[in-house]
Amino acid sequence: MTTRREQAQHLDQQDPLAHHRDAFILPADTIYLDGNSLGPLTHAARAAVCQTMDDEWGQQLIGAWNTADWITLPQRVGALIAPLIGAGEADVICADSTSINLFKVLAAALDLRPGRARLVSERGNFPTDLYIAERAVARAGHGQAVHWVDSVEAIDGLIDDDLAVLMLTHVDYRSGAMHDMQAMTAKAHAAGALVVWDLAHSAGAVPVDLAAAEADFAVGCGYKYLNGGPGAPAFLYVSPQLQAQARQPLAGWFGHVAPFAFATGYEPAAGIKSFLVGTPPVLGMRALQASLSLWGDVDMTDIRRKSVALCQLFIQTVEAAGCDDLVLASPREAGRRASQVSFRHPDAYAVMQALIAQGVIGDMRSPDILRFGFTPLYTRYVDVFDAATRLIAIVRDRVFDDPVYHQRAAVT
Ligand SMILES: *Cc1c(COP(=O)(O)O)cnc(C)c1O
Repeated sequence: MTTRREQAQHLDQQDPLAHHRDAFILPADTIYLDGNSLGPLTHAARAAVCQTMDDEWGQQLIGAWNTADWITLPQRVGALIAPLIGAGEADVICADSTSINLFKVLAAALDLRPGRARLVSERGNFPTDLYIAERAVARAGHGQAVHWVDSVEAIDGLIDDDLAVLMLTHVDYRSGAMHDMQAMTAKAHAAGALVVWDLAHSAGAVPVDLAAAEADFAVGCGYKYLNGGPGAPAFLYVSPQLQAQARQPLAGWFGHVAPFAFATGYEPAAGIKSFLVGTPPVLGMRALQASLSLWGDVDMTDIRRKSVALCQLFIQTVEAAGCDDLVLASPREAGRRASQVSFRHPDAYAVMQALIAQGVIGDMRSPDILRFGFTPLYTRYVDVFDAATRLIAIVRDRVFDDPVYHQRAAVT
C-alpha cells in the first residue's frame, strides 16, 4: 500500500510544471509557503542584477541609460507583465510601489467622475488601500465620500448613479477569497461607475483577464508571485479607452512628453507613459524583468490546475486530522479561492513561529490567521503534505505553548 506521502511524491513525478522549480534558489530543508508575501530569489534575477551592476553600472556608467536601454525598462517590464493579467503590452507600466500606483489611478478615476458622490471598497481590504483611498478622495476635492462595506451584497446595494469608483482587491489577502472580476466590473459599469482592481495577490497566482472584464484601472505588486525581490517596483494598468482622458496627479518628469527637453511647463506623454513619475529603480526592475522571463512558456491554466490541487491537498490533509482549533478561513469552493489557504487558530502567531522553527515558512496576519501561499512554479505536492503534517503535530501536541514562540518580531 502506498502512503499518503508517496501519493504526493507520485503527483510531483507527473507534474508538467515540476522543472520550473530549478529556476529558483531555495534554502535546503525549507518549505517555502510565503511566496504570496515575498517571492523567492530566482537564478535569473541574481544573474541579471550582477550583470547590471558589474557590466552596465560598473562599466557603462551613465551611458547605460542608452546603451543598456535602462530608460525604457518601465515599458518593457510592463509588457512582460501584460500577458499575465490579460492586458495589451502598451497598457501596463512598471513603476513605483503598489500604494503609490493606487493613489495615481484612484485620483485619475475620481477626476473622471466628479459629479458622483462615493468611492466604495471593502473594510477588510489591505489597509494601505484604505488609507490611500481616503487621501485620494480628499485630494480630489469633489466632495466625494468613502464607503467601506463588509460583503458583496453590501457593495451591490451601493452601485447606483452616485457611485464614482468601485475599488476592489481581486484576492483578499487574509482569506484568499476571490471576486468575480467580470461580474463586478459589469455591474459597476452598468451604473456608469469606474472600477479599480488591486491585483497584488492575483498576478502570477491566478488567470486574470483585464481586457475581457473591461476593467478600467488596475495595480499590482512585483515582489509577491512575480518574484521581483524585496521592494520590487509595482505595476499599473489603464484601459486603452481611458488613456487619453485619464490624468494622474503626480506630474513628474518621466511622465512628461519630452523629459530631456527640460521644459518648464508640464505636458503629459501620450498613453500609459504619463503614469510614470520619476527615475526608475534600475536594479529592482532588472531583477523583476529577469524573474518575469520564467513565465514565457508557462500556461496560466496549468498554474491554476496545480494551484487548486495544492490548496485542496493542504485543506484535506489538515482537516483529516480533526483539530477543532484549526478552522478553515478560506472559501472551501475552489472556484472562489485564489492560490492561498488560511486557517484560523487562537494562537496563530505562536503556531506559525513553531512551524517556521520546523522549516515551514508561512505567515500570520492579525488577529488569528495562519496564511499559506501555494506557488505552482516551485511548490511540490510533497511540500504541501509535509507542511500540513507538521502543522497538525504542532497544534495537536501544543508545541506552540513554548514561550519562545510567543516573542513578537516587527514583521509578522
Ligand atoms: C501587498 C499588498 C500591497 C503592498 O503595497 P506596497 O505599496 O508594495 O507596500 C498593497 N495592497 C495589497 C492588497 C497588497 O496585498
